[in-house]
This record gives sequence, structure tokens and C-alpha cells, in this order.
Amino acid sequence: MTAAKKHKGRVFSGARPTGRQHLGNYLGAIKNYVALQDLYEEAIYCIVDIHALTTVETTQNLKQNTYEMALDWLAAGLSPEKSMIFVQSHIPEVVELSTFFSMVTPLGKLTDLPTFKEKIRQQPHNINFGLVGYPVLMAADIALYKAVAVPVGIDQAPHIEFTREVVRSFNYRYQTKVLVEPQMKATQIPKVMGIDGENKMSKSLDNHIELAATPEETQQRVMQMVTDPQRARRSDPGNPDVCNVFTMHKIFSSDGDVQMIDTECRQAGIGCVDCKKLFANNLNTHLEPFRTRRAEFNQNPDQVWEVLVDGGQRARTIAKQTIAEVKEAIGLP
Ligand code: SF4
Repeated sequence: MTAAKKHKGRVFSGARPTGRQHLGNYLGAIKNYVALQDLYEEAIYCIVDIHALTTVETTQNLKQNTYEMALDWLAAGLSPEKSMIFVQSHIPEVVELSTFFSMVTPLGKLTDLPTFKEKIRQQPHNINFGLVGYPVLMAADIALYKAVAVPVGIDQAPHIEFTREVVRSFNYRYQTKVLVEPQMKATQIPKVMGIDGENKMSKSLDNHIELAATPEETQQRVMQMVTDPQRARRSDPGNPDVCNVFTMHKIFSSDGDVQMIDTECRQAGIGCVDCKKLFANNLNTHLEPFRTRRAEFNQNPDQVWEVLVDGGQRARTIAKQTIAEVKEAIGLP
């Protein structure tokens, strides 16, 4: 059997070190990362710790959060053989390229971005220079590895468009073709709601379910999930179409379970407690192999750090080459 032909070039994605990952992270990003490492010639996944500095108040958990995140990525199936997995700050060239990019980026363009305005609203006491330049650093992350594809949800499209513009500006200013305009790899990323049923799943809102939670903790969180608000009593028929538990069943449960709930919920044949217990069981079964792998990796933290160091060394070889070409193109002595 011959292996499927891979897409040419590199796919790149980065994520902030947010520690233990949750179902939203898994369904929204990690699952896709794992699939893409088999589809592209090279896959590059970066834990963007420098980006985190623009918003974190303290760095005391940064190292542990980086470790926990790497642990989850590896346990979920990211392979050091197939992907370069590393930490952004291990590649100083990204800061160099970001500086060069800042010279071809109008300040007004950055301050006009809706994401920047949102950050000002969120942290009015800490509007730092890094926050304004955040998209420039992100563009450098992508361009440094000459990534051809960046997997993002539709809501992230403006960021990729911004990167494309910066690359175009750079290439135009210095009359070069050394940098590559990345393409957005639009993916059908499901919006994973938190257990409150109202907001996107997020650690900061404490409405998340961690991948690495124990089966008991998972069950506890699932039992807190908000269901169809119209279904006040067990005897009331429910509407699975407006229930987040049902949405999750559709992702993690068998077709048979989904069909049964779809029917029984509407005629009050199943209660929400039993429905949630069933989901918790199915989710725990689904996560069991992940938890086993995670525990194995966690027995040897040095091995996890080695993966990141090795990934960084491989990524840095590319980064150094790009920076050399960039400096040449600029005409730096
Ligand atoms: Fe939601 Fe299940 Fe309750 Fe129906 S029975 S409202 S699908 S939790």
C-alpha cells in the first residue's frame, strides 16, 4: 500500500501555554494538528510563550503550563517524528523578524484592529507595546518557517490576512520574494460550549472539562452541564437540539446512543441525569487511551522537555536560514 501524497510545504500553528488542555482546545485545535501532521511535508507546532507575556500578570506558572500543554499535545497524538514541537522563546530569530516586520507595518493598522481594541477593554491597566505589536509577532511566527498553510477557524481569518499583508509589504519594500504568503487552512472547527451552555469553553470562565481530569472529576463536571432550559421536570419532554449535552453526545457517543437520546429526550423517555451519566461514561471511555499515554509521558518529564528542545533545534535551523535571507534582502551589512 502506498502512502497518500502529502501537501507540499509546511503547516504551522501556535498556541499560548495555557496549561492543561480542555475539550474545547482538543476539538478546536489539537485534533486538527494531529491530522495535519500526516497531510503536509512538515508540520510545525509552537507553544507561543512570548505572546503570553503580553497579557499574563505573573510568569510563575509559565514553565509548568508549557510542560502540561506539551504533555497533552503528545498524549493526544502529536508525534515528534512527524512534527516539530517547540517553544517560541527558544527561537530568538522570531523576535528579529518581528522587528523587521514592525518597520513595514503602519502603527494605525495595529491600533485599528478589533482584537487590539478588545484587549484594551480587557486590560486597560496594561496596554503594553507588545500588545500593540502582537499581530506582528504572530506574522513573524508564521513567515519565519515559510509556512504555506495555517489552520484556523473562520474567526481567525483576519489574522492570517494581516500576516499575508505584512509579508507582501516586506517583499515589496525590499523587492524580494524571500518570504511566503501563507494560505489560511480554513477548518470546520466546532464551537465548543462550556458546561454553562452559554459561553465558549474556556479555562478563564471555569466552564471547561480538562482532558487530563480523572474519570470522577469528569463525571462531576458533566453532571453540572446546563441542559434544555425549558425542561424543568423529568416528565417534561426535552429538545436535544438546544442542549449542549446532546451536542457533546454527537461528538463522543455512538450513533446508537445519539439516536436513542434524540428520540427518548423528546418524549421524556430519558431524564437529564441519566443522559449526562451516559455522556460522562462515553467521554471517559474515549479519553482513557489519552490518559494512559499522558501518565506514561508524565513519568519522565525530561523526555517531554527533550522533545521540545529537539523540535526547537530543528525549527531553528529553518529560522536561521530565513533570517539570513531576510537580512540579505534588506541589505543589512
Ligand atoms: Fe439534554 Fe439529554 Fe436532558 Fe435531553 S435528556 S435535555 S439531550 S441532557
